[in-house]
Amino acid sequence: MKDPDTPSLFPEPAAPPPEAVAAPPGTPTVARVITGLSLDREFDYRIPPDLLGRLRVGHAVRIPFGHRRMEGFVTALADHTDYPAALKPIEAITRPDPLFDDTMLRLARWMGHYYAAPFEAAIAAILPAAVRHAGADFRRLLSATRVPGAGPTPDEETALRRRSPKAAAAWDALRDGATLTAADLARGTGVSLDALRRLAARGWITLAKAPALRNPADRLEILPTTPPPLTDEQTAALAAMAEEMASPTPGVTLLHGVTGSGKTEVYLAAIQMALDAGKGAIALVPEISLTPQTMERFRGRFGDTVAVLHSQLSDGERHDEWQRIASGKARVALGARSALFAPIRPLGLLVVDEEHEPAYKQDETPHYHARDVAVMRGALEHCPVLLGSATPSLESYRNARAGKYRLVRLTKRIDRAVMPDIRVVDMRLEGEKKSGQGRPLLAAELVEAVRARLARGEQSILFLNRRGFSTAVTCPDCGREETCPDCSVHMTYHRSGDFLLCHVCGARRPAPSKCPDCGSPGIKRTGTGTQRIESVAQALFPRARIARMDSDTTRAKDAHQRILGTFRRGDIDILIGTQMIAKGLDFPNVTLVGVINADASLQIPDFRAAERTFQLLTQVAGRAGRGDVPGEVFFQTFSPFNPALQCACHADMDTFYDQEILMRELMKYPPFTRMTTVLLKGPDASAVDAAAQTVATRLRAMLPPAVDLKGPAPAPLAKAKGQTRVHLLLFAPAARDYLPALRALQARPHLPRDVTLTIDVDAHSLM
Ligand code: ADP
Ligand code: ZN
Ligand code: ZN
Repeated sequence: MKDPDTPSLFPEPAAPPPEAVAAPPGTPTVARVITGLSLDREFDYRIPPDLLGRLRVGHAVRIPFGHRRMEGFVTALADHTDYPAALKPIEAITRPDPLFDDTMLRLARWMGHYYAAPFEAAIAAILPAAVRHAGADFRRLLSATRVPGAGPTPDEETALRRRSPKAAAAWDALRDGATLTAADLARGTGVSLDALRRLAARGWITLAKAPALRNPADRLEILPTTPPPLTDEQTAALAAMAEEMASPTPGVTLLHGVTGSGKTEVYLAAIQMALDAGKGAIALVPEISLTPQTMERFRGRFGDTVAVLHSQLSDGERHDEWQRIASGKARVALGARSALFAPIRPLGLLVVDEEHEPAYKQDETPHYHARDVAVMRGALEHCPVLLGSATPSLESYRNARAGKYRLVRLTKRIDRAVMPDIRVVDMRLEGEKKSGQGRPLLAAELVEAVRARLARGEQSILFLNRRGFSTAVTCPDCGREETCPDCSVHMTYHRSGDFLLCHVCGARRPAPSKCPDCGSPGIKRTGTGTQRIESVAQALFPRARIARMDSDTTRAKDAHQRILGTFRRGDIDILIGTQMIAKGLDFPNVTLVGVINADASLQIPDFRAAERTFQLLTQVAGRAGRGDVPGEVFFQTFSPFNPALQCACHADMDTFYDQEILMRELMKYPPFTRMTTVLLKGPDASAVDAAAQTVATRLRAMLPPAVDLKGPAPAPLAKAKGQTRVHLLLFAPAARDYLPALRALQARPHLPRDVTLTIDVDAHSLM
């Protein structure tokens, strides 16, 4: 089949892909099918007489394939084939309803082309595995329903109530034609299965297996909320969305609102408008901010019509939530990245909260960016897209300034809440003051500020982006460093359990008490992680209630919610944590935020380091002073004059943007170019190097001169999980300049057996 032209996202104008080839008049006799095999091609099948006129695009079908049977999805209907031999017939439709429609199919095709990924991988991305896999179905449980028109006579009913009150209670619960599972009835009324069978035997109820939804929301009791009157700025933002919704060609709106300015309230109001117009909506949030608080706000406003899709759902729950959406019972999908593909029909609004979040980039093939695909889905469905952030990405901000996106601002915090007072603490001076004793981890000013909070019963957050106790373990005598044998990183010392852990591959070994090489007992543990801050804080504030939240303390299901719940109730004075606590939390009693190492993200080897730092610091600082008491924030740093830090300190997006955009333009970095990484990895370093050279030579021969190809060079993470990693970087003025070469490479990588290749279009990580 011919490649459809690949439209590109910004900075080129976003144009929807051409319409899919329409089925010619007359009943199609040929169906094109994609399978799950990594073949990146579709196959033609004959439509047997019993399926003529019934088969539709998106249907799951059983097909003969070689000597096997397998399931595939119909991607097109036609009345002829180019296949030279006789076509095999489709055997059956395996699921009653199509799993995707034409628009989603076009979106998948676009993703496959734009992200240089096989088409079947793009199909897999738009359909959750729990839905895609054959056998995925509703759980069928024994359920009871009243038989219409039947039931006990008044005398019989009186007798029933006397002799068998539980059965009578079950009978009552089934009033209004409800279907309830036997298990639910037993839980609610104590009725036994035998008692239900007796009701059935008298012809009053039926007992049969029926699809039962696994609704994760059942476990939570949500109080309905009413929308607050909007502020003037919120009203203006909503008016802008109303205009977009009314427009025949709605566009993208960037909502730039400082932390706590009421962006979420604008999303909720805009979603309500979409619902009022008879349409549905999708709201994407980064997984990490998909907190119970966020879910409650959505459920409180929209009740059962919200389906929540997040990574902690079981496959069954995911399947059921998806079906609730597909069947139209749920009209609002709230979720992380992949909720973007929720089958909301018709779609009236797409919201992407915290649009700058790197978590929107998928880390497997296709390496799509959910915000960018959302913009494309919006264009395909003529649906407005609302991107929100306190710290928009340079890409989106540039589009807004250039007039491609509509820019709406919320400049003030809600109510009387004022922006926190931010101070930069120069840790170099801190060291001098205490010379002789080593540098303290918490500056004296910060310690004082925490003390004042403890005295007033207010809460503090201490933020550090590294977990563990110390991040390097070295021998001062022979210089031995404890590194992971399989990864090019230091092992982190974890004090609870006294072991060394590799944060890349998870390998662990006992912490040595003396140097394994020279026997020296003076092993040094340097570099600070959250565990060390916790122990320092415990020593400094012995009476404070301290909790730590990082991926070590939140491994158990619901641990995340439990810690935040305790914090909210005020049973924790000081919360210490990693980026898990940086985003989206709204705790009015938090009046102090201390950032232990504000420089940490400046050191990552990435041209986005300054942008990430600015965003992270602004977000963390935004956790302070969201209630009536003004907040105070400390940034501990060794580079106090760094522009990203200074701008975050003054919440000055525009100055930061102006400086950073100049640098990007000068260096020819995104958003002035598109950047793609090609990563090669394998267990044998020389095979990987050789393959990388071959790939570079092939690419150079195919690429137009406008594309700048850098490398091959060892990736910053040169080795991970025993695999050597070598990468190439491609910078192109526009995606179309390198996509043909990348697609050719993806289709025929010609690699030695144990070398694998990953193409990451618009890469967001250079590691
Ligand atoms: P953001 O998403 O910008 O961080 P939120 O929407 O979470 O801000 O709003 C911050 C706080 O202000 C929340 O507690 C929210 O319930 C409250 N809030 C938002 N808009 C209003 C309003 N118009 N009137 C009263 N309270 C509001
Ligand atoms: Zn040693
Ligand atoms: Zn490792």
